[in-house]
Amino acid sequence: MTSSALPDVPTQLFIGGSWRDATGGATFAVENPADGSTLVEVANGTVEDGKAAIDAAVAAQPDWAKVPPRDRGEILRSAFETVVDRADELATIMTLEMGKPLSESQAEITYGAEFLRWFSEEAVRVSGRYSVAPNGATRLLTLKQPVGPCLMITPWNFPLAMGTRKIAPAIAAGCTMVVKPAGLTPLTMLWLAKVLEESGVPEGVLNVVTTRSTGEVMEPIIRDPRLRKLTFTGSTEVGRSLVEQSAEGLLRVSMELGGNAPFLVFADADVDAAVEGAMLAKMRNIGEACTAANRFIVHADVAEEFSSKLAEKMGALKIGPGLEDDVKVGPLVEEKQRDKVAELVDDAVEKGATVVTGGQVPDGPGWFYPPTVLTDVPLSAKVSTEEIFGPVAPIFTFTDDDDAIRMANDTEYGLVAYAFTTDYARAVKVYEGLETGMVGMNQGIVSNPAAPFGGVKASGFGREGGAEGIEEYLETKYVGLGGL
Ligand code: NAP
Repeated sequence: MTSSALPDVPTQLFIGGSWRDATGGATFAVENPADGSTLVEVANGTVEDGKAAIDAAVAAQPDWAKVPPRDRGEILRSAFETVVDRADELATIMTLEMGKPLSESQAEITYGAEFLRWFSEEAVRVSGRYSVAPNGATRLLTLKQPVGPCLMITPWNFPLAMGTRKIAPAIAAGCTMVVKPAGLTPLTMLWLAKVLEESGVPEGVLNVVTTRSTGEVMEPIIRDPRLRKLTFTGSTEVGRSLVEQSAEGLLRVSMELGGNAPFLVFADADVDAAVEGAMLAKMRNIGEACTAANRFIVHADVAEEFSSKLAEKMGALKIGPGLEDDVKVGPLVEEKQRDKVAELVDDAVEKGATVVTGGQVPDGPGWFYPPTVLTDVPLSAKVSTEEIFGPVAPIFTFTDDDDAIRMANDTEYGLVAYAFTTDYARAVKVYEGLETGMVGMNQGIVSNPAAPFGGVKASGFGREGGAEGIEEYLETKYVGLGGL
């Protein structure tokens, strides 16, 4: 059964430049989280299909590495323009499979397409070095070459951007790839693959395998001795097991994992600006973002003003199916995710937290959860250590700056932190003291294709975007020039 609202989108595997069914013809259903209906059936790739995809990527690698950088850049530029031109169509697909409102899908498309443009420009900026050896006897030359065939595994929360952040630098660098999108949201990636094919990506350079037998199909690819790199965005738990698997081939590995972002509001902060920042840091993507503010750590002097203003704004957001007008809060991606968010709120309330707004699962179909603000949250509540991945803002208080930084760092994660203060010296102390890969100072969003995105600690390693992003797909070769 295919939903009539769903624009045309490929549903087959894309391997070696051909669209084909899974071996054996199996499919799986992609559902609309707003009502639980089936949108469409998609090919359920098998181990054989995974093998065919890595075979195709390996076969295409030598010729692809020789394609001039400008030509690779032009393919990305063309894809960027198509994605922007057809943004409305893609936004509908994304909202239907993932649940977020159309405005959020449009924002992701703007962000995700920008990686195609950014790396179209970076493709022609790869260079090496030349120097005289310290003893003057030889010359030292370094050059950059593509890492080789890559496996890219992406999550459901930003089904376009988490793909383009990997695919675009790999294309720019001259790597071939096998891409495995999340089972809950494969349609956006299949749509993008078609656009990249039409933009001139040669056969075998990009291969997309959708599957619900994920571990079974991915592990042989990871253990294939011809694979050179694994790049993964997803949960820390899965990331850990993939790092273990990648040890066998000593792969180049990038891990963009979970977060538990602190959002610090100091006594001297502009509270209205902090509330605006909090709305972005919490409500972007309905809170289903690795960068979502997970713990609001607010100075006691401004906690009351901050929480009441935040609750007023969060409580006013319209909830509903993402395709409806003015909706700001769509359903969460699946029932399990909605239940997890509800359980975290119930746990905090049982331990003494106060619900200022939200806190109740609404009646009716779809996996909705209302924007929720909790105050008086004890540190023993699970929300202080677990990634929420939903529209819930737990507020903790502090009175001493050093305590605030300690609380912020008291987590296994280290992806991003946000801090609001108008004091310059305090700002420097705070951003230097936070154990995260990224800090938003007086701003509630850090994601930017021109900046290096990534974490430390259990949030992973490697950087995506910025000048660093393409380096993840390049090896440095040193040539010693002797006989002078
Ligand atoms: P997930 O369960 O770890 O899944 C991510 C991807 O890994 C999916 O494609 C999934 O496939 C695949 N996968 C699952 N088990 C696997 C296995 N055994 N072998 C190989 N692949 C496997 O994470 P998620 O729930 O989709 O995404 C949410 C998580 O991603 C959150 O923790 C969030 O913080 C994190 N995230 C991090 C960043 C960042 O840049 N740091 C950005 C966005 C999201 P299936 O869908 O088929 O299970």
